Amino acid sequence: MRTKQFKSESKKLMDMMINSIYTHKEIFLRELISNASDALDKLYFKSLTDNSVGLKAEEFEIRIELDKDNRTLKVIDNGCGMTEDELDSNLGTIAKSGSFNFKNDNEKTENVDIIGQFGVGFYSAFMVSDEVTVESKAFGSDQAFCWRSKGADGYTVEPCDKDTVGTTVTLKIRESTESENYDEFLDQYRISALVRKYSDYIRHPIKMQFTTKKPVEGKEGEFEDVVEDRTLNSMIPLWKKDKKDITEEDYANFYKEKFFDFSDPLKVIHTKTEGQATFSALLFIPEKPPFDYYTKEFEKGLTLYSRGVMITEKCADLLPDYFSFVKGLIDSEDLTLNISREMLQHDAQLRLIAKTVEKKIKSELEKMLKSEREKYEKFFDSFGVQLKFGVYDGYVANKDNLKDLIMFVSSRENKYVTLKEYTERMPESQKAIYYACGETREKIDVLPQTEAVKSKGYELLYFTDNVDEFAIRMLGEYGGKPFVNICDNDFDLSGDEEKKELTAKNEEAKDMFASMKEILGDKVDSVRYTGKLQGHPVCLTSEGGISLEMEKVLNSMPGAKENAVKATLVLEINADHPIAEKLKKLFADDKDTFSKYTKLLYDEACLISGKGLDNALEHSTLVCELMC
Ligand code: ADP
Repeated sequence: MRTKQFKSESKKLMDMMINSIYTHKEIFLRELISNASDALDKLYFKSLTDNSVGLKAEEFEIRIELDKDNRTLKVIDNGCGMTEDELDSNLGTIAKSGSFNFKNDNEKTENVDIIGQFGVGFYSAFMVSDEVTVESKAFGSDQAFCWRSKGADGYTVEPCDKDTVGTTVTLKIRESTESENYDEFLDQYRISALVRKYSDYIRHPIKMQFTTKKPVEGKEGEFEDVVEDRTLNSMIPLWKKDKKDITEEDYANFYKEKFFDFSDPLKVIHTKTEGQATFSALLFIPEKPPFDYYTKEFEKGLTLYSRGVMITEKCADLLPDYFSFVKGLIDSEDLTLNISREMLQHDAQLRLIAKTVEKKIKSELEKMLKSEREKYEKFFDSFGVQLKFGVYDGYVANKDNLKDLIMFVSSRENKYVTLKEYTERMPESQKAIYYACGETREKIDVLPQTEAVKSKGYELLYFTDNVDEFAIRMLGEYGGKPFVNICDNDFDLSGDEEKKELTAKNEEAKDMFASMKEILGDKVDSVRYTGKLQGHPVCLTSEGGISLEMEKVLNSMPGAKENAVKATLVLEINADHPIAEKLKKLFADDKDTFSKYTKLLYDEACLISGKGLDNALEHSTLVCELMC
């Protein structure tokens, strides 16, 4: 018989499991039980439409058998079982769902995160055992097969004898060492405690034979072993229990097991709704985005149950995109069990549930923002971008739903501020909400215009996410105050008198600016004096609908090369800076140096705005020429 190798990326993970860097080894049991329970669900579901399954609802069960002498622990189910091919493909590859990227094999936390994020399930068995055997007979199949592996060396699959449909997983429990106790996994009390801790809500009975000592009747002081079958789990789904009987740890354990997260959830939302739609919802907001959250592979959705039986693992219609980070489940009395996926989409009841769920999530977030600020900011660090995408998405309803949930960092204290907070503490003289875009706060802080805003005592919002400006343009205004990009040409904080003066100066220097524009060609649309710069000589601003930042974002999108957008740029010169006088002189006396100065000033403006130089070599040559 040929020993097959695990797929390459699986091998590494297998090594990790065998070397057991994971501290909570006990979770192997919940993983195996959860697999068994899924297999039972699958066959139960089939039995609803297929009489040949031949099992009554109450006959589906999981059994645990302990054998101290042979050091084996068995998890047995009478679920759907696996064919030879399924054994090979399901247990021969680890974490089919994700592309692996092991950066820091030796670092513990990295590895732990991988376990949490991928839900490597079955393989956790190797943390406590040095040989794993899976005997399985698939429903509808005559032949059973046995999968066996001692770890990283690979596995074998061969025919075996097994009468009943289902799967038996046998772990050969490791010998205890000085530092690790494995014997506990052969102890009936320990195992029964672990089942209650992690798998209590499993819908199917998890049974085990319990041996207890009972006094022998009529013989004082004598005891005998009594063996009885016990069901270890209460079988009541967590979400059906009374909230007061559920601890935070229960929620956290449930969440981590079900949604493959290593961290506790940031927020748990557990509600029952009655009325037009009757359902229970158990929802979780993760602390951090899952590894694939911001990729195409991520699938949003809630698990949908009807009276405790799962219908769909991920029902996308239950969540709007901007709340796609929410994990959890809905259990409804109103949906029929054999509803198909296609029908679900058109189900009015489901839409009603989705609406209610959305409102609930929104109101919970609002509550968190109000009374648990720190937590909300943590949440926003992880998922704020998603909410901003929601605003950008364009539906009027989204904007109104979300505009009070988004935040930006402000120049006031370098802290998050909501738009409501910003507008409420604006001085009366301030007419607009000011923002600036840039890669980082530091880069925005060195914009010459920033100084002007700050010196007026106004607050500036830092837009450092690509989506920020797009989202805000969708809003247009907040509380009657328009949003103004301080890098827009229109941005001007000077008074009427000053504006008049500036217009006159610009008129006077008309020819000089026309000449500068000619020198710069289509790099800029025009050149003019400005009063908005305090100490700086120049800045670059944009005119019209597309800002410099938007140009950058739009042109970095796939396929943008053919239809590149271009912001209309204006080179603005500080009318009060000595450079203004100098330019005037050069324009009159020395056209050659004037041309060099013009190019250099444009370059300086590009550098400060974060746009970068068009031609670094030309810039360097110019500077050197002037230095010599
Ligand atoms: P996951 O459960 O996250 O998919 P696992 O590594 O735990 O990953 O299991 C891999 C697959 O093997 C499962 O998806 C399931 O198809 C199959 N499997 C595991 N255990 C059983 C079982 N007891 N009965 C039937 N199929 C099983």
